[in-house]
Amino acid sequence: MSDCIFCKIVAGEIPCTRVYEDDQTLVFMDIGPIIKGHMLVIPKQHHDPITETPDDVLGHLIAVVKKIAAAQKKALKCDGCNIIQNNGVCSGQAVPHLHFHVIPRFEKDGHTWNWAAKKYDDMQEMKQLAEAVASALTP
Ligand code: AMP
Ligand code: ZN
Repeated sequence: MSDCIFCKIVAGEIPCTRVYEDDQTLVFMDIGPIIKGHMLVIPKQHHDPITETPDDVLGHLIAVVKKIAAAQKKALKCDGCNIIQNNGVCSGQAVPHLHFHVIPRFEKDGHTWNWAAKKYDDMQEMKQLAEAVASALTP
Protein backbone atom coordinates (compact mmCIF):
# COMPACT_ATOMS: atom_id res chain seq x y z
CA MET A 1 0.00 0.00 0.00
CA SER A 2 1.88 3.03 -1.29
CA ASP A 3 0.08 5.58 0.93
CA CYS A 4 0.24 3.55 4.16
CA ILE A 5 2.53 5.01 6.82
CA PHE A 6 3.29 1.61 8.38
CA CYS A 7 4.09 0.08 4.98
CA LYS A 8 6.51 3.00 4.51
CA ILE A 9 8.11 2.18 7.88
CA VAL A 10 8.47 -1.48 6.82
CA ALA A 11 10.06 -0.34 3.54
CA GLY A 12 12.49 1.94 5.41
CA GLU A 13 11.06 5.07 3.76
CA ILE A 14 10.04 6.47 7.18
CA PRO A 15 12.32 5.93 10.18
CA CYS A 16 11.30 4.01 13.27
CA THR A 17 12.94 2.89 16.48
CA ARG A 18 13.01 -0.86 15.90
CA VAL A 19 12.65 -3.31 18.79
CA TYR A 20 12.36 -6.65 16.96
CA GLU A 21 11.79 -8.04 13.52
CA ASP A 22 11.46 -11.37 11.78
CA ASP A 23 10.51 -12.26 8.22
CA GLN A 24 6.81 -11.52 8.82
CA THR A 25 6.75 -9.02 11.70
CA LEU A 26 8.13 -5.64 12.79
CA VAL A 27 7.97 -4.21 16.31
CA PHE A 28 8.81 -0.55 16.90
CA MET A 29 8.31 2.20 19.44
CA ASP A 30 5.03 4.12 19.27
CA ILE A 31 5.92 7.75 18.64
CA GLY A 32 3.13 8.94 20.97
CA PRO A 33 3.34 6.62 23.97
CA ILE A 34 0.40 6.27 26.36
CA ILE A 35 3.04 5.03 28.81
CA LYS A 36 6.77 5.23 28.04
CA GLY A 37 7.81 1.93 26.45
CA HIS A 38 4.58 1.65 24.37
CA MET A 39 5.30 -0.50 21.27
CA LEU A 40 3.50 -1.48 18.08
CA VAL A 41 3.54 -5.00 16.62
CA ILE A 42 2.69 -5.08 12.90
CA PRO A 43 2.73 -7.59 10.06
CA LYS A 44 5.23 -6.58 7.35
CA GLN A 45 2.55 -7.27 4.73
CA HIS A 46 -0.35 -4.83 4.65
CA HIS A 47 -3.46 -6.29 6.30
CA ASP A 48 -6.54 -4.54 7.71
CA PRO A 49 -8.95 -4.97 9.44
CA ILE A 50 -8.48 -7.99 11.72
CA THR A 51 -11.55 -9.70 10.23
CA GLU A 52 -9.86 -9.80 6.80
CA THR A 53 -6.48 -10.98 8.07
CA PRO A 54 -5.53 -14.64 7.52
CA ASP A 55 -5.42 -16.79 10.67
CA ASP A 56 -1.80 -17.81 10.15
CA VAL A 57 -0.70 -14.14 9.99
CA LEU A 58 -2.67 -13.39 13.16
CA GLY A 59 -1.37 -16.47 14.93
CA HIS A 60 2.23 -15.46 14.34
CA LEU A 61 1.52 -11.82 15.25
CA ILE A 62 -0.08 -12.68 18.60
CA ALA A 63 2.87 -14.94 19.45
CA VAL A 64 5.17 -11.94 18.88
CA VAL A 65 2.84 -9.76 21.00
CA LYS A 66 3.28 -12.28 23.83
CA LYS A 67 7.06 -12.27 23.37
CA ILE A 68 7.16 -8.45 23.52
CA ALA A 69 4.93 -8.31 26.61
CA ALA A 70 7.27 -10.75 28.36
CA ALA A 71 10.36 -8.76 27.34
CA GLN A 72 8.78 -5.50 28.56
CA LYS A 73 8.06 -7.10 31.92
CA LYS A 74 11.65 -8.31 32.21
CA ALA A 75 13.37 -5.16 30.96
CA LEU A 76 11.05 -2.38 32.12
CA LYS A 77 9.95 -4.11 35.37
CA CYS A 78 6.33 -3.25 34.55
CA ASP A 79 3.56 -4.80 36.62
CA GLY A 80 1.37 -5.66 33.62
CA CYS A 81 0.37 -4.39 30.20
CA ASN A 82 -2.53 -3.39 27.99
CA ILE A 83 -2.76 -5.06 24.58
CA ILE A 84 -5.01 -3.05 22.28
CA GLN A 85 -6.01 -3.55 18.65
CA ASN A 86 -8.35 -0.98 17.07
CA ASN A 87 -10.49 -1.58 13.97
CA GLY A 88 -12.12 1.32 12.15
CA VAL A 89 -12.21 5.06 12.69
CA CYS A 90 -15.17 4.56 15.08
CA SER A 91 -12.85 2.58 17.38
CA GLY A 92 -10.15 5.24 17.38
CA GLN A 93 -7.98 3.59 14.72
CA ALA A 94 -5.80 6.24 13.07
CA VAL A 95 -3.52 4.01 10.97
CA PRO A 96 -5.37 1.47 8.79
CA HIS A 97 -2.62 -1.20 8.85
CA LEU A 98 -3.22 -3.98 11.38
CA HIS A 99 -1.31 -3.38 14.60
CA PHE A 100 -1.30 -4.41 18.22
CA HIS A 101 -0.39 -1.85 20.86
CA VAL A 102 1.64 -3.36 23.72
CA ILE A 103 1.58 -0.82 26.54
CA PRO A 104 3.55 -1.48 29.72
CA ARG A 105 1.65 -0.65 32.90
CA PHE A 106 2.91 0.19 36.35
CA GLU A 107 0.85 0.14 39.51
CA LYS A 108 1.27 3.87 40.03
CA ASP A 109 1.56 5.09 36.44
CA GLY A 110 -1.47 7.36 36.91
CA HIS A 111 -3.14 6.36 33.63
CA THR A 112 -6.85 5.47 33.62
CA TRP A 113 -8.98 4.38 30.67
CA ASN A 114 -12.41 5.92 30.18
CA TRP A 115 -14.02 2.49 30.62
CA ALA A 116 -17.62 3.48 31.30
CA ALA A 117 -19.66 0.27 31.69
CA LYS A 118 -23.27 0.51 30.47
CA LYS A 119 -26.37 -1.59 31.25
CA TYR A 120 -28.67 -3.60 28.97
CA ASP A 121 -32.35 -2.63 29.11
CA ASP A 122 -33.07 -6.20 30.24
CA MET A 123 -31.75 -9.77 29.90
CA GLN A 124 -33.74 -10.24 26.69
CA GLU A 125 -31.77 -7.49 24.96
CA MET A 126 -28.47 -9.08 25.98
CA LYS A 127 -29.67 -12.54 24.90
CA GLN A 128 -30.83 -11.29 21.48
CA LEU A 129 -27.43 -9.76 20.77
CA ALA A 130 -25.67 -12.97 21.88
CA GLU A 131 -27.89 -15.09 19.64
CA ALA A 132 -27.50 -12.78 16.62
CA VAL A 133 -23.72 -12.98 16.77
CA ALA A 134 -23.67 -16.70 17.59
CA SER A 135 -25.76 -17.42 14.49
CA ALA A 136 -23.40 -15.32 12.34
CA LEU A 137 -20.29 -17.31 13.33
CA THR A 138 -18.43 -18.88 10.44
CA PRO A 139 -17.04 -22.41 10.91
P1 AMP B 1 -4.32 3.49 16.19
O1 AMP B 1 -5.07 4.67 16.74
O2 AMP B 1 -4.69 2.20 16.87
O3 AMP B 1 -4.42 3.42 14.68
O4 AMP B 1 -2.80 3.75 16.57
C1 AMP B 1 -1.86 4.29 15.71
C2 AMP B 1 -0.60 4.53 16.51
O5 AMP B 1 0.46 4.75 15.62
C3 AMP B 1 -0.67 5.74 17.44
O6 AMP B 1 -0.48 5.32 18.78
C4 AMP B 1 0.47 6.64 16.94
O7 AMP B 1 1.16 7.29 17.98
C5 AMP B 1 1.35 5.65 16.21
N1 AMP B 1 2.15 6.22 15.13
C6 AMP B 1 1.71 6.96 14.10
N2 AMP B 1 2.74 7.29 13.28
C7 AMP B 1 3.85 6.71 13.82
C8 AMP B 1 5.22 6.69 13.45
N3 AMP B 1 5.67 7.30 12.35
N4 AMP B 1 6.09 6.02 14.24
C9 AMP B 1 5.65 5.39 15.36
N5 AMP B 1 4.37 5.38 15.75
C10 AMP B 1 3.47 6.03 15.01
ZN1 ZN C 1 0.26 -0.81 5.31
